[in-house]
Amino acid sequence: MGKRRIRSVAILGGGPAGASLATYLARAGLEVTLFSAGKRPPIIVGESLVPAIVPFLRELGIEEEVRSYSVYKGGATFVLGRDEAMSFRFYEVRGAATTYSYNVPRDKFDESILDAARRAGAHVVAHGARVERVGDSDRVRLSDETLAAASDVLSSQPDFIVDAGGRRRVLPRLMGVEAVEGERKDTALHAHIEGVEVEIPGNVHTDRLEHGWCWRIPLPGRVSLGFVVDTEYIMKFGNSPEEQFDNYIRHDPVISPWAAPATRVTPVVKYTNYQLCSARGVGANWALVGDTFGFVDPVFSSGVLIALQSAELLSRAILSGSDRAFQRYEREVSRIITAWQQVIGLFYNGRLLTMFKVGQFVRKTRLGRVMDFHFSKYMPRIFTGEAATSRYSLGLVRFMANYGLIGNDPRELEIR
Ligand SMILES: Cc1cc2nc3c(=O)[nH]c(=O)nc-3n(C[C@H](O)[C@H](O)[C@H](O)COP(=O)(O)OP(=O)(O)OC[C@H]3O[C@@H](n4cnc5c(N)ncnc54)[C@H](O)[C@@H]3O)c2cc1C
Repeated sequence: MGKRRIRSVAILGGGPAGASLATYLARAGLEVTLFSAGKRPPIIVGESLVPAIVPFLRELGIEEEVRSYSVYKGGATFVLGRDEAMSFRFYEVRGAATTYSYNVPRDKFDESILDAARRAGAHVVAHGARVERVGDSDRVRLSDETLAAASDVLSSQPDFIVDAGGRRRVLPRLMGVEAVEGERKDTALHAHIEGVEVEIPGNVHTDRLEHGWCWRIPLPGRVSLGFVVDTEYIMKFGNSPEEQFDNYIRHDPVISPWAAPATRVTPVVKYTNYQLCSARGVGANWALVGDTFGFVDPVFSSGVLIALQSAELLSRAILSGSDRAFQRYEREVSRIITAWQQVIGLFYNGRLLTMFKVGQFVRKTRLGRVMDFHFSKYMPRIFTGEAATSRYSLGLVRFMANYGLIGNDPRELEIR
């Protein structure tokens, strides 16, 4: 192999990863055919965006459009119990390049990126694509039926095929790509509700519950509510996702005061298994991007950022065509996923929330103020996404979460 010249690319999936990749490649003059399965669930998770996404929106030329239908997101709030909450404002983050973000209705958001791909010259084909393995080789091809569905724009097999199909993982299954799964076996139940207040308008809220945690994402006219709870435990609350969601709202003592009177305005969508990283991301004439490559627990709203970052990295590898560029891509995406997994682990074992809590008191002392000047530059930018893979920032968070809790027991804030 060494170096290949890639002129035409087929992309399976028109979510953030596939559509942004299509935009970058089409802008560079490649012949891009994007297959978008069309039908999506009534509501889609991934509505809270981290600030590091905003430069991508500008690059894609869609920030104004996204702003027009989204809720301005100025920060994040962690609710530790019934009377205890901590809020962070992005404008307080020292050295931040972007001090805000958006909470987005995902159907509109995905359509905005797809439109950017069309404007760039990519051909969007409304068809669920099928791929086949070529003999016993490491190569894949589009099925004849898929090629026929795209016959207006694609006359022969493309040089390269990218699976951006999300958690279905079509290509990894076909090619027997192994995956490492996370340890937790939680279930997420997601719906939109009306009639709920949030502590700080616009902020994404993370509430620690008696069992598990929940997100509250303010959207125009409604709030996105999602529980992440142990799979066996949630089964006690009913058979259908709707029963489990509605009963759990009434049961949990932390959220029932505000959630029980709310009205659910959508069906409930259920997700299981949401920590996974593929052992390979690249083959002879194919690659994985976005959730297909790997996904992490959603507590820090990092999924869409990882999708956009990996799409940009993959576009560079495809344009280069060298083995080395593809290996770099594979390494870099694995590094991004591993970095997020580390801080997510600190959330679940209670160390991160304990560190935040301790920080609130320490900041009031003279020494604390001096230390905070340094910490407020390096630590929060992990969570805004700007320094999510910075070795120094990650090392600092790990160190403080392990040795800076001043005798506080992190188990009190662990997620059960
Ligand atoms: C419970 C939960 C909560 C989350 N919350 C957040 C959050 O708040 N913020 C955040 O940033 N991220 C969040 N995420 C993660 C985020 O949703 C994903 O990381 C992101 O959507 C990944 O984008 P993608 O383009 O890789 O995949 P997707 O968004 O899944 O898009 C893939 C698309 O490809 C289509 N497709 C699949 N196969 C084919 C095919 N063969 N042919 C054609 N089309 C195909 C699918 O129908 C789909 O439309 C959350 C995830 C979960 C599970």
